[in-house]
Amino acid sequence: MGTGDENPEATPARLATTGAVPPAQPPLAIVLASLHTVGTALALLATTQLDRLRTACPSHTPLADLSVTEWPSFATPQRLWRARTQPAYCRRALATARLRLHAVANVPVNDGCGLKNEIRVERGAVSLSSSFLATCPLAVASAMFERHVAAPAARKVFGTTLRSMKHVGSYACRNTAGRVQRSDHATAQADDLTAITFADSWRIRVANIGNSNTEDFRFLCAMHDGADRYFIPLRGSDYNRQHADHIHFAAGGFMACR
Ligand SMILES: [Zn+2]
Repeated sequence: MGTGDENPEATPARLATTGAVPPAQPPLAIVLASLHTVGTALALLATTQLDRLRTACPSHTPLADLSVTEWPSFATPQRLWRARTQPAYCRRALATARLRLHAVANVPVNDGCGLKNEIRVERGAVSLSSSFLATCPLAVASAMFERHVAAPAARKVFGTTLRSMKHVGSYACRNTAGRVQRSDHATAQADDLTAITFADSWRIRVANIGNSNTEDFRFLCAMHDGADRYFIPLRGSDYNRQHADHIHFAAGGFMACR
């Protein structure tokens, strides 16, 4: 028990000098087995949490229907893609929007221009300078943009609410400026926003974006950044000379946002 009972030759230093076997280390197999057990436990935990998330928040799965009222999540781009590619899915999403709209007669598509199952949007949650023709995906994306981007940006930057949006139209049988292919406007898949009016009658125009120190600039930047989630392609006022006075919102393409 006391120090007098210890055998000096049993100390580690003595063992090292005499070539005796050092204290046993955990075999590699045991270490790997332990890591495997920990990894399995973490995987089970993650799976359980994901299952709970799917149950508690069905809107987080891309398989759920799209609702205009839902706050954007990581599943929103996939569901917007489904709205662009699956007409019935898009119509269900459109039914959740606060839009005043009505169906319009088809215009046979000829030479890249025409209307097929388009609708006329009379107004959204805020008034519009005029009604516009839109595909279902464009109408859904516009409603979500107004609710989740434009309105929050107005509150955050100006501390006010939106009153109306001014646009210069969606449907026009023409080519993209300077190119030979048809524009998104040739099939009413895009709309051009030029100005926004707020509750206190303050209006800003896209053409007057100003310098980076102004609230107008910050507001329009917030619009650009938020719109990127909903529109493909999105072309802002700094895209080229043809877009200097408006923002081009399209919801029919598959190209990446610039
Ligand atoms: Zn345009």
